[in-house]
Amino acid sequence: MIESFFQIGRELKEGIKEEDFVKYLTLDIEKEIKNKKQHVVILDVEAEDNEKFKLNIDFEEISDETSKKYLWVGNPPGANSPQDRFTTNNLEYLVSQTIPNLIKLLPECDLKNKLQNLKEKLYFDLGTKEEIISTEGQYERYRYIWDLTKIRIDLSPAKVKEQIKEETNKGKKAVKIVANKIEEFIKEKTKLKKEEIGLFTISFNNEPLCDNEEYKRYIYKKLIKEIFEKAENGKCHLCGEEKKVTWDTTKFWFKFYMTDKIGFSSNLQGEKAFFKNYSLCEDCYKSILLAEAFIRNNLSSYLSNYSVYILPSLYLQYTLPVKKIEDWAKYFKDKFWAIATIEGWYSFQQKLEEYKGYQLTQDSFILNFLFAEKSQSAFKIYQLIQDVPPSRLDKILETAADVQELGKNSIGENTWYLSLGKIYYLFSIGKTKNKKTKFILSFYNSLFSFIPIDYQVLIKEFVKRIWEIRFSVGAKEYNDIDFSNTILLQNFLLCYLRKLSLLKGGEIMNDNNEEFVNVLEIRDDVKNFLKEAKYSEDMISLFLLGQLIGEVGKKQYDKGDKKKSILNKINFQGMDVNKLIRLFNDVYEKMKQYKVLSAETEKIYGISKELFDKNKINWKLTPQENVFYILSGYSFTTYKAIISGKQKNIEEKEVENE
Ligand SMILES: [Zn+2]
Repeated sequence: MIESFFQIGRELKEGIKEEDFVKYLTLDIEKEIKNKKQHVVILDVEAEDNEKFKLNIDFEEISDETSKKYLWVGNPPGANSPQDRFTTNNLEYLVSQTIPNLIKLLPECDLKNKLQNLKEKLYFDLGTKEEIISTEGQYERYRYIWDLTKIRIDLSPAKVKEQIKEETNKGKKAVKIVANKIEEFIKEKTKLKKEEIGLFTISFNNEPLCDNEEYKRYIYKKLIKEIFEKAENGKCHLCGEEKKVTWDTTKFWFKFYMTDKIGFSSNLQGEKAFFKNYSLCEDCYKSILLAEAFIRNNLSSYLSNYSVYILPSLYLQYTLPVKKIEDWAKYFKDKFWAIATIEGWYSFQQKLEEYKGYQLTQDSFILNFLFAEKSQSAFKIYQLIQDVPPSRLDKILETAADVQELGKNSIGENTWYLSLGKIYYLFSIGKTKNKKTKFILSFYNSLFSFIPIDYQVLIKEFVKRIWEIRFSVGAKEYNDIDFSNTILLQNFLLCYLRKLSLLKGGEIMNDNNEEFVNVLEIRDDVKNFLKEAKYSEDMISLFLLGQLIGEVGKKQYDKGDKKKSILNKINFQGMDVNKLIRLFNDVYEKMKQYKVLSAETEKIYGISKELFDKNKINWKLTPQENVFYILSGYSFTTYKAIISGKQKNIEEKEVENE
């Protein structure tokens, strides 16, 4: 998968300037620590005249953009490194060594002169090490400190010197005293407490110094050089050339791909030997950094609580077909969104003309889908779906559209599009989030990778989900429309998988059955549904019984029994043939009791019972299937009643009462 990053990075790297590159080197930063929102504080030094300055304090809440906006690339690592970052999490650096160090480190440039000037006006000199009798090995770094009287804060250099007389670490202490004073000043201006500040940055006359192009070039050299300075010669994993290479991945966001050959082990300590095989030269290292940012910005989507990254890689050929990588990214992302949501599907259809050119050459790519969750400390991968030809997504889209049409024709309404998001809700929520995660992600994997799914496993999941809705797990109260809608969608999901040849097992209607359904004395819309859903005789028998349960339920509902007690006759754990025999009797009793016996319902009951008696000796359905197909009939009748206004939707009624 790393090739995907490499190819994207290669496209993007053309002509990018060093000063533009630095934003790819920024680090993530916590937005909240221990329930406290984090902020960046901007210290603006404003020149009032040649001698005096004013310190303006501004602040912003830390967001996803902060790190790039203020170029937070971390502090130089190592206790002895000279601190040289305009944006830092340590205020002491800013009020002392940052500017003096940068003056030393920068090449001749405007910025250097500007800083030199600022140092002369704003800083005071604590004196030589000998003068103040300091024993600190790193004393020089503390020697120049802001003279706060220059910014009208009441702390003179003389006072600072007075306060450190008795101290041993004199320089360090002096810096601390000054930083503390500024901290107080910040608190007074912003009301922010110390633990609410994650970053400090400095600007001069309202210009953020971190925006300075010379500074950015400096940082670029520093960071890339830092890595390759210590690098050894070796063979680059990506381009294959013998060069200075690194296996330092600390700046990478998607660290995982380095490890995709050994699974997603997060414990990579002591794996130096392994990483050596994955070492990168400077050029390829930069490609990866660029690609990561590009993928995060242009190829990330989401689905049922996961972030999804779509990673295209070129297949067989080496150069991008027709369009630029930005355009391809948009195309793939839109296509994924069309599968994931109905809104996405509608908007994708609007663009079909525009996307025509892509359809023909799309299979020059293969797609990988990465389902993950990124938190500050960890990048957790839940599922990686690999090597999906983009045209397969078209097959999925077409099938979803076919099934939507099927639903519209047999039930009415236009709400049967099986988006991935909708499919998520057709399976049991389960006791733990992890369990659900595993099931649904493996379902998505089957779908994208065209791996057949076990029919019986699906039925079990369906019935569990139906039970959850009936007994209001995770919802306030029983919702009839949600209940019947879910079951119908589950039926359509079976059709959908069958059309994609992804259903393993399960009895289906054969051609004889189709003829058989045609001559049944039942309504045409029901016939239509049974044929489309390819019901066997056993299934048809139970479906019709379920329809009658729906009729009784309607009456119960009208009499104020909103939860429809007839549904309590159904044992959601599963019903064997003996229980079905009893159910037939119970339903007939209830039909009499609630006066739903009519020529038509009698006929339906007759057909249902006849089919049951004919097949019960050799009954092929499992107890769970029995429940599912009874409730499918119930849902068909109930859903139709609701949409035709014969039974008011509960929710609707509540709204009216408000
Ligand atoms: Zn390389």
